[in-house]
Amino acid sequence: MSKIVKMDPGIVCFQHCGPKVFSFILPRRCPVCDEDLERANFALLPFRVPYPFIRASQYPCAVVIKPTSGDFLNDYYNSMDLHIGVTTSTGTIVEFDKHGLRKHRSTHWNQCLLLDQVPIPWREHWDTTLWQVCKQKCWSAKTYSEDNHNCYSFVLTFLVTLAYGNLSEAARNRTLFCEKFIVPRTTAAGKYISLYRKLKQHGFYEHRNK
Ligand SMILES: [Zn+2]
Repeated sequence: MSKIVKMDPGIVCFQHCGPKVFSFILPRRCPVCDEDLERANFALLPFRVPYPFIRASQYPCAVVIKPTSGDFLNDYYNSMDLHIGVTTSTGTIVEFDKHGLRKHRSTHWNQCLLLDQVPIPWREHWDTTLWQVCKQKCWSAKTYSEDNHNCYSFVLTFLVTLAYGNLSEAARNRTLFCEKFIVPRTTAAGKYISLYRKLKQHGFYEHRNK
């Protein structure tokens, strides 16, 4: 497994003489025309590309996903190997996997995608419902099954019990939940991931409009 990158790599975008250019740091010279960028006129001033990932512990009462192993930037390939969890009102992560049900504040959830977060008035109800669902005997290492009694089963059961609008409505059907809450996030993050990988390989990337 590659080294885990948990922080924003800080991708910069600018446009000088033609194409949009992406890089990790603003180069001294334009990689397209070689002009000194210190006195250059930019067609588009340098800005930082928004980092799509979050630290789960900083988002109370949230539903979060991450790759089952490794991180999004380096290890993610497709939505087949995503792992889902929730956070409590104090940012503790609750997840169900082959080890059973676990509550912790591990750094493994430092590069996640936020699927949804309930507003402050819902927090007490969120915690109460979460503890109720956690107490159910079915969330143990023994009963875990990778295909039909897994992290999704736990989170979706909790969300349905929570009865929180569209989120809970979608949670009744795993396919619908994926379509509405997961695919849009992973698609947006996928653009950032592929940009990051291009930069890691080539140093910078020129985007030309076709
Ligand atoms: Zn240039």
